[in-house]
Amino acid sequence: MQRKFCSACGGALAPATEPHGSQPCASCGTEHFRNSKPCAGAVVARGGRVLLVRRAIEPFKDHWDIPGGFLHEAEHPEDGARREILEETGLRVRLVETLGIYMDRYGGEDAEEWTLNVYYLAEPLDDAEPRAADDASEIAWFAPDELPAEMAFNHEREVLAAWRARLRQT
Ligand SMILES: [Zn+2]
Repeated sequence: MQRKFCSACGGALAPATEPHGSQPCASCGTEHFRNSKPCAGAVVARGGRVLLVRRAIEPFKDHWDIPGGFLHEAEHPEDGARREILEETGLRVRLVETLGIYMDRYGGEDAEEWTLNVYYLAEPLDDAEPRAADDASEIAWFAPDELPAEMAFNHEREVLAAWRARLRQT
């Protein structure tokens, strides 16, 4: 995402000259790097079904989503994934392995903000039933052949395809 003002002196910034390039401040020289925002989430599976949440907030309110979210400063992605799942579903999970890292835009094809999304495979620590909370309005388990046709974010189709590919291997 392009910045409009310098974070150090408040001066106006010119747009970056290269795609995704940095924006130096012409007044004080401070460089403004444009990074993707780090996010973490997990495919939580039980008995071959995956846990999805329906979004209660924009963007993509009411779309199905994989539990996860933005990392806090200094937070390890593993801790962030467990925290987000607990907040949205009430479930405590064990992260089994890293599924992959996926790039996306936050808010659709034309959004300026990029995200870097770390995903894990996870399983619940106990038999507790999930409850939708925080920024989730509904929650459900889905079999691999009953997944929602449309997910909130483009990269989530790839994440679920990776999960299905793992299921076929086992
Ligand atoms: Zn400046």
